[in-house]
Amino acid sequence: MSTAISVQRTRNPRPRPKDDELAFGKLFTDHMFLAQWDEGKGWHDARVVPYGPISLDPAACCLHYGQEAFEGMKAFKSGSGMALFRPRAHVARLARTAKRLCMPEVPEELFVDGVKALLREDAAWLPSAAGTSLYVRPFIFATEPFLGVRPAKQVLFAVILSPVGGYFSGPARPLRLWVEQERSRAAKGGIGEAKAAANYVASLLAAEDAKHRGFDQVLWLDGAEHRYVEEVGTMNFFARIGGKLVTPALEGSILPGVTRDCVIRLARDEGVQVEERRVALSELAAAGKAGTLEEVFGTGTASLVAPIGELAWGSDQIRVSGTGALGEKLRTTLAGIQRGEVADRYGWLEKV
Ligand SMILES: *Cc1c(COP(=O)(O)O)cnc(C)c1O
Repeated sequence: MSTAISVQRTRNPRPRPKDDELAFGKLFTDHMFLAQWDEGKGWHDARVVPYGPISLDPAACCLHYGQEAFEGMKAFKSGSGMALFRPRAHVARLARTAKRLCMPEVPEELFVDGVKALLREDAAWLPSAAGTSLYVRPFIFATEPFLGVRPAKQVLFAVILSPVGGYFSGPARPLRLWVEQERSRAAKGGIGEAKAAANYVASLLAAEDAKHRGFDQVLWLDGAEHRYVEEVGTMNFFARIGGKLVTPALEGSILPGVTRDCVIRLARDEGVQVEERRVALSELAAAGKAGTLEEVFGTGTASLVAPIGELAWGSDQIRVSGTGALGEKLRTTLAGIQRGEVADRYGWLEKV
């Protein structure tokens, strides 16, 4: 069975950017996908329509209590067509997020059929240069006009597409991270492992401070003690110490990244020992001093594998001594799989 999706084509196609003009998430394609959910009625009105503003009642719950969640994945050129990277993993994560935020689950078929219908409509927007892709942003939010506090009975699921180049502008240079010592992004029992808009608003102020200090992003520590590394806020965190790759274990407050999962598997395929466990900032500092901190990188759909060259807080600082060879190898392999140039052993690509 497949989802019945109506299509209304735009009469005003937008000018398409050249591959070398792409930044992250600034331009959107001609169409968007929408589907509505009402309690009692379920999902209905799945449709591809011209990209444009969505009208909302001013009392829509999402504007007051933050019932919004999203996903982020990519579509790539594949032969003469297109392929999505691990869409099923993203559907499953959105389902877990929606459950945590008391929103209805988007059925796998509706999600995948909707994304594919939209991609087929806007296929001409898929860039082809190395490092480029179509970023797919599915999101779900509460539209019911109601100011009482309870889960909304009306929800909208939407998908938009953005042709993208690299996530961080400019040539790939190691990122400098400010280690946040006071504020927290998430706490155990909270919504840190959900891909919720609310986690991002919780992170903005610290990120602004870090930027004013001249850093690229924040490295978040655990909310209880500020001792253990959690993640970068848009990326999961990896460090190579004495040959082993370590990454914080998923204990509820860290987003379970799809790229994180890929990188763990690919690193093990390379024969690298990977440990998912608590990673204390003091352990990184000690390894930095001892010269055994070989590399540090972040992972995420948008940036893939991004080298990190420095961690700083107060008057302390850790500089990473290594060349980032493992991260670079993993990035190249993953990018190769996505572009169909390296064997897709795990069946991560799905044809559109
Ligand atoms: C999306 C996201 C990531 C990266 O997850 P991927 O599935 O690899 O893109 C990491 N941290 C946070 C907070 C995120 O929202």
